[in-house]
Amino acid sequence: MNNLGEGDKKFIWHPFTPMRFWLDNDPLVIERGEGVYLIDSKGNRYIDGVSSLWCNVHGHGHEHINQAIRNQLEKIAHSTLLGLASPPSIELAQKLVGIAPQGLTKVFYSDCGAAAVEIAIKMALQYWRNLGAKNKIRFVALKQSYHGDTVGSVSIGGISLFHQIFGPLTFKAIFTDSPHPYRFDGTAKECRDYCLMQMKKVLIEHRKEVAAIVVEPLVQGAAGLIVHPEGFLKGVEELARTHDVLLIVDEVATGFGKTGTMFACEQEKVQPDIMCVAKGLAGGYLPVAATLAGPRIFEAFLREPWVETTFYHGHTFTGNALGCAAAIASLEVFEKEKTLENLPPKIALIEKYLKEISELDFVGNCRSRGVMAGIELVENVKSKKNFDYNCRVGAHLCQAMRNRGVILRPLGDVIVIMPPLSISLPELQVLFEVVQDGIRKDLPAVLARCKHNQP
Ligand code: PMP
Repeated sequence: MNNLGEGDKKFIWHPFTPMRFWLDNDPLVIERGEGVYLIDSKGNRYIDGVSSLWCNVHGHGHEHINQAIRNQLEKIAHSTLLGLASPPSIELAQKLVGIAPQGLTKVFYSDCGAAAVEIAIKMALQYWRNLGAKNKIRFVALKQSYHGDTVGSVSIGGISLFHQIFGPLTFKAIFTDSPHPYRFDGTAKECRDYCLMQMKKVLIEHRKEVAAIVVEPLVQGAAGLIVHPEGFLKGVEELARTHDVLLIVDEVATGFGKTGTMFACEQEKVQPDIMCVAKGLAGGYLPVAATLAGPRIFEAFLREPWVETTFYHGHTFTGNALGCAAAIASLEVFEKEKTLENLPPKIALIEKYLKEISELDFVGNCRSRGVMAGIELVENVKSKKNFDYNCRVGAHLCQAMRNRGVILRPLGDVIVIMPPLSISLPELQVLFEVVQDGIRKDLPAVLARCKHNQP
């Protein structure tokens, strides 16, 4: 095919994309990656401002990871974990257990974040069943939370649009308010205490029914980078312990350094019963995911009668050898390049820029944790009134910023910035200068166009 863009429009159905708008434009075709840069089919370079949907960790084309994949390829690309073992899956599991919060000692592999979460909820339900608590089948989750797009993970997701559409397919989870200080009438501490109190009430009301609480720790990504008030996660852990339910943390987005520590849980010394990881696990190179659990959970699956207590879940590519090799190499790079140790000045620079950006017109709120940053644009800063969603302000602004050499993908009108951890200080500076310029110079044109197109 000579014209790649035409080929894309003819043959590809893009994920999470309003295709009617997609077909009106010529797609940007990314052919290569180098460090934090994405390079298109015409040779233009762009900073990968959202780390290829929040997964790239050490930059694109990192030689150590590339070489590890090549080395593994010389041996074998894939063999099944159903009935067989493999060296890379064993080595990676040992490494993961070594860095995970204490108490997580077993690794169940899969290939995407949604699957890791599905596995967690099935595991939690069957854990209680294996212990004889057959009524503990319900899940408590946060409104506006996001855990993936498969039916089970949508069921515990609280983003109302997806629930409206796929509601008839889902099971009924119990939702409590997510602690979103910007949208709460009160202090961050009051917001936290209110949300914890609400969760406590629900746990009391549904005593004996709840299998687990599921949360995204510290940051609710897809909801628009909601940054939880300090102590919320710890409070949820305490509620789980007091009310005898499991705590499942979904570290799919936050894991592997994005919040500034290897896992978000560490920051509040939380020890989940089950933890889900994906995205950055293999450095963002290959689709590998995992659900980690502790001995308490695992041992419940060793009971008799074995035919009822076995965990009946698995995927063809569970524990894929190439993916595991990439993940091992990524964890080695964390050590070699002192990736986490090098983060504090980068995080400080992000916070400095966000402070400046928060003063700009139409910026309602800037929030961040580690390298995860969100800039919420609103029509009225005082009343916090949103723009009409039909204007697609966030989408048009990010489109305009491409001409300034940066790739970003918004969540509604929240501009999300989440670069690879390997980004250098000068590159980070360029990224934020572009965002700042974009809001100053491109946003007025986007808003004018929106006004013009309104009936
Ligand atoms: N959980 C969280 C917190 C996520 O942010 C995502 C993806 N953005 C998922 C689960 C789903 O992961 P995947 O897209 O790999 O299925």
